[in-house]
Amino acid sequence: MRVRHKPWAREMLESHPQYVVSSPEQYKGNWKAVFEKDQPLHIEVGTGKGRFITEMAKANPHVNYIGIELFESVIVTALDRLIEADLPNLRLLNVNGEKLTEYFAKGDVSRVYLNFSDPWPKTRHAKRRLTYKTFLKLYEEILIDKGEIHFKTDNQGLFEYSLMSFSEYGMLLKFISLDLHNSDFEGNIMTEYEEKFSNKGFRIYRCEVQYQ
Ligand code: SAM
Repeated sequence: MRVRHKPWAREMLESHPQYVVSSPEQYKGNWKAVFEKDQPLHIEVGTGKGRFITEMAKANPHVNYIGIELFESVIVTALDRLIEADLPNLRLLNVNGEKLTEYFAKGDVSRVYLNFSDPWPKTRHAKRRLTYKTFLKLYEEILIDKGEIHFKTDNQGLFEYSLMSFSEYGMLLKFISLDLHNSDFEGNIMTEYEEKFSNKGFRIYRCEVQYQ
């Protein structure tokens, strides 16, 4: 993904510690200290500009959410949304998803969302896909028993690869849609990429998988 550099982004993130958790490792095993209510925690890895996670947090006040994004120039837009909405059940982390186990202990997280993850189409880059087996192991290490991953993409190749990866890992494939927007799935919240690609006529794929 091309990212426009915003030199002021770091300062903006640092000046809102009530929304952007700056030393997440200190909350490992104790994320309830960050939120008003002690309730299940769902995270999105690769949250981008944050529309999905913000709307989810508004719609589901009984769930705590964390949006995780690598690039500060991207997550600042999510921060803008969060400042505007001022939600007690949403926080942001500007960190690399490869380091999830530094920030979360086993059982801290009840669900992982992956939306329109970078496809990394070249086989030699497969290890970078957020559904590669090493990432599935990371998610397993922070999720509750029988925790779930909910995954959406417009990329057929990435979807096929991910279903294989989930299956080879021994996960239960609970729900699969090959055309989300023409399915009976209710309550879909669109991400920025989802809107962009579905407007161009791309089909959206979605699945829910569970560790066993
Ligand atoms: N989920 C958003 C959406 O659907 O609109 C953004 C999709 S964008 C294609 C993928 C995002 O994942 C990018 O913002 C990228 O920086 C982020 N990302 C990729 N690898 C990541 C990682 N290892 N840790 C955190 N974020 C990551």
